[in-house]
Amino acid sequence: PLQAGIVGLPNVGKSTLFNAITRAGAEAANYPFCTIDPNVGVVEVPDERLQGLAAIVHPRRIVPTTFEFVDIAGLVAGASKGEGLGNQFLGHIREVDAIVHVVRCFEDDDITHVSGSVDPARDIEVIDLELILADLESVQRRLEKARRNMKSGEKRFAIEVDALESLQAALESGRPARSVALPEEARELLRDLHLLTTKPVLYAANVDEASAADPDGNPHVQAVRAKAAAEGAEVVVISAQLEAEIAELEGEDREAFLRDLGLHESGLDRLIRSAYRLLGLITYFTAGEPEVRAWTIRQGTKAPQAAGVIHSDFERGFIRAEVISYEDLVAAGSYAAAREAGKVRLEGKDYVVRDGDVMHFRFNV
Ligand code: GDP
Repeated sequence: PLQAGIVGLPNVGKSTLFNAITRAGAEAANYPFCTIDPNVGVVEVPDERLQGLAAIVHPRRIVPTTFEFVDIAGLVAGASKGEGLGNQFLGHIREVDAIVHVVRCFEDDDITHVSGSVDPARDIEVIDLELILADLESVQRRLEKARRNMKSGEKRFAIEVDALESLQAALESGRPARSVALPEEARELLRDLHLLTTKPVLYAANVDEASAADPDGNPHVQAVRAKAAAEGAEVVVISAQLEAEIAELEGEDREAFLRDLGLHESGLDRLIRSAYRLLGLITYFTAGEPEVRAWTIRQGTKAPQAAGVIHSDFERGFIRAEVISYEDLVAAGSYAAAREAGKVRLEGKDYVVRDGDVMHFRFNV
């Protein structure tokens, strides 16, 4: 499964946020599997379209799609030099597909800040620097090897050396690897480096309760926004402490609590959706009487592979898919009406599935 790793300096609210995530996940009725790893939290991806489909097909159950967050605690200044358990944490970051960087935007004299004051721009730079230094080390090691291998005359090593030199120059000047435009071939060759600064980043500005409803009145949030804008990254303002309280509530209590705070939805829901988008994920649906269900695929996935998410037999024996967009189905009001109106299409193995497609697969067993 695709995962987003939660990183940040100590005492910024990562554990608080992660606990809210796991509690929300544990309470989800359709929780499909149990995680043994305490550092992985499974969350349901909120999607109003599930209710829209349920109103049409009246299923026995509704199953949202899920998504995973990994708690990567312990990143500190000096991590790239192997201080403390630093290197181990950097290794965990290598394995995730996207990074959620929690930044402290709340003031509280009782909670020590590792650098003595709340300063989001500086905090972001501290973490970025560790990631950049770790990548620089990987790049330099690989560059030495590629240069030695270049003597063999094999073309791939010349491509690697070129690309690695560009990466080295960028990292040395404090820019992330994602800022370097590499030719496709070079990117493929260097994929196994798992550079940390190529991963997409989302900033979670952790504010106190008072700022949750009026984030722009908080100057620390403005600082995070400015920094993120410079990198073309997204910001989600969230109050980890508040989310922990919200995660305890359910149904009407939850709605009422949010309403009292002047919020339309929980910050966690916004965070989940942003992270989902950041990973380039989209949702398609299956809708029948037993269940209405959301499934996750990467953008650009073709019909047989999309079917494979449900079951490998569906992919192997794929014949065709009946497809209708969510909007068309809702507009028609029923499958029968949609079919009559010619809105249900038959698509083959080259069809690229779109977000919101309602799919019915035909396959050989
Ligand atoms: P971590 O080291 O980044 O995992 O940080 P924790 O989640 O353990 O939080 C550190 C301390 O800050 C804990 O005592 C939290 O209760 C507290 N904390 C987290 N978020 C907030 C907040 O929004 N406001 C205040 N006042 N305290 C918070």
